[in-house]
Amino acid sequence: AAEIELAGVRKEYPGGSVAVASLDLVVPAGSLTVLVGPSGSGKSTVLRMVNRLIAPTAGVISLDGQDVTKSDVVALRRKIGYVIQHVGLFPHQTVAQNVATVPKLLGWDRKRVSARVEELLDLVGLDAGLHGKRYPHQLSGGQRQRVGVARALAADPVVLLMDEPFSAVDPIVRGRLQQEFLRLQETVRKTILLVTHDVDEAVRLGDHIAVLSEGGKLEQFAPPAELLARP
Ligand code: ADP
Ligand code: ADP
Repeated sequence: AAEIELAGVRKEYPGGSVAVASLDLVVPAGSLTVLVGPSGSGKSTVLRMVNRLIAPTAGVISLDGQDVTKSDVVALRRKIGYVIQHVGLFPHQTVAQNVATVPKLLGWDRKRVSARVEELLDLVGLDAGLHGKRYPHQLSGGQRQRVGVARALAADPVVLLMDEPFSAVDPIVRGRLQQEFLRLQETVRKTILLVTHDVDEAVRLGDHIAVLSEGGKLEQFAPPAELLARP
């Protein structure tokens, strides 16, 4: 697993809105760190910078000591899995084809791809024979989120970035997905940076919690038990 470090990170969008003023944060290797804060506190901006979808205005973000803005993008994308709220599965591809996207891009042979797809679907609690042949619209919202997680894990990334991964599903399914996700993390042990606006979710999932306020200001960073014990 890899450590993610943000040092003096600032993001100003064109037009002058300062999403993140100056952020120092270390996401420990192998941790499930939750970034929690109200809407507009810069959480998604942080994830997009780590994933190099956007560049910081100032400061350095590194993955295992390597500046992400100086790493090869393809190599970086192999190291990082990305899961977003509305998974964005390819609608005209089956579940199996969706999960196979990255392994195919990497040029794996057929046998290896299909073995990997089966393994991944199994890992997220779906059946390759049954669900693999379906199209995304034939699945429930919770099942689609699982496919999104399977797809993000396909190339065995070291880091998983998750932006409100459970927000689009109803509360009952959400609770079950959260439990399964914690079990999954025990198996795969990635460095996970997960964004949510839901404090309960943060406490339930995180082994470290970073609380952000307006302007990406880091208010607290601690294990949940310690945060809850503070006055
Ligand atoms: P969060 O994920 O915590 O809701 P965001 O990172 O999405 O916060 O947004 C932080 C701030 O940056 C908000 O004020 C938002 O309006 C602004 N912002 C986000 N994306 C853009 C953009 N592409 N252009 C301009 N401002 C943006
Ligand atoms: P789709 O590719 O079907 O549009 P995705 O959920 O895969 O939907 O992607 C949504 C956005 O996030 C796209 O702009 C895509 O390029 C980007 N994206 C998805 N996965 C990654 C990743 N691992 N690294 C970087 N960007 C990603």
